[in-house]
Amino acid sequence: MLKKDRLFTPGPTPLLPAAQTAMAAYGSHHRTSEFRALFAGVLADLKQFIGTRNDVLVLSSSGTGFMEASVSNLTSPGDRVLVLTAGKFGERWASLAKAFGCALDTVTAPYGETISLEEVRRKLTPETRCVYVQATESSTGARHDVQAIAKLVRTLPDTLLVVDAITGFGTTRLDIDAWGIDIIIGGSQKALMIPPGLAYGAVSERAWQRMETTKCPRYYFDLRKERKSAAKSETAYTPATSLFAGLAAAFDYVRQMGNGNLAAGRDALVANAELCAAMTRAGVQALGLKLFSPACPAAALTAVAAPPGADSTTICKKFRDQFGAVVANGQAEMKGQLFRIAHLGYYDYLDTVGVLAALEHVIAETTGTAVEFGSAVRAAQEVYSKIR
Ligand SMILES: *Cc1c(COP(=O)(O)O)cnc(C)c1O
Repeated sequence: MLKKDRLFTPGPTPLLPAAQTAMAAYGSHHRTSEFRALFAGVLADLKQFIGTRNDVLVLSSSGTGFMEASVSNLTSPGDRVLVLTAGKFGERWASLAKAFGCALDTVTAPYGETISLEEVRRKLTPETRCVYVQATESSTGARHDVQAIAKLVRTLPDTLLVVDAITGFGTTRLDIDAWGIDIIIGGSQKALMIPPGLAYGAVSERAWQRMETTKCPRYYFDLRKERKSAAKSETAYTPATSLFAGLAAAFDYVRQMGNGNLAAGRDALVANAELCAAMTRAGVQALGLKLFSPACPAAALTAVAAPPGADSTTICKKFRDQFGAVVANGQAEMKGQLFRIAHLGYYDYLDTVGVLAALEHVIAETTGTAVEFGSAVRAAQEVYSKIR
């Protein structure tokens, strides 16, 4: 049978056709009024999409570039920082903090679980300069309670909160200013439906003040330099110009989802991810499969434990070979143990039902057990008809 290539991975995600066209057509030089207009429009849209009055910035890098900037710009060597980690992306915060010579405290939760607020309370001290966390941990499919964590951090006047919302934006309700998040980070290849290459974020006044005194080395990712340039609708260095054209098209699409209101469109995008995720959870559980993060599942993606005796590497390979569907395996030591189906960005009903129908075949063939065809699809349809 014919196979169409489809991404079900939590980044990169399927591309918005209007963004692809806009990117292919874009050829302006970055020091021109054309690009300045495009850039200014993107920054204005970004403020609404993020939902903040703080400064917003876009860096030409993958998401990790902005993560690195949030360590190098906000800390000095020897600073105490607290990393909240429950997966591979949490571990990335810890590696970055070590790379810049910070004194590292951690709150660690097992893979598939979320951070204990009690433990955060215990580990936070007035000397903690920064707290680093994910909104959604894409390696395990878990969601962390950013609002509750922010409430704890905000009891300390000199502690900054940095949130990796790279798969959180467009899948999770976040109130940056009310909760007091100092830096929050997103990436272009996730819910914004364009290719990898741009990282975006919002930076609080408290964070800008911190940068006046911090001493970690930084050059390309010097946020103060980017802020100065952005005030003139410019970037400090050559930006990924065509991706900006794609981003503008993506914001237009999200605005349409909100009938002309970008913030409403963003909320609709979050609701879409939530519905796709709820359908997927019902579908996989109807097949007797177990969620990898059952207590705190994210809407960005659903991580499913490989059934006993089966290897998720085989499951992912079958999805690919038989149906053209790219489903993500577990990362690092989780490889073989789980597979991940994404819902962030450009996914609809037919994608969601289609991947569950394929899953029924994949599970029947990899486990050799009888699967009642239609059972996962039916469970998803029931969720859809109830929630829609
Ligand atoms: C994708 C992702 C990142 C960023 O990875 P890059 O490869 O640098 O774009 C960081 N954190 C989370 C939670 C992610 O899902």
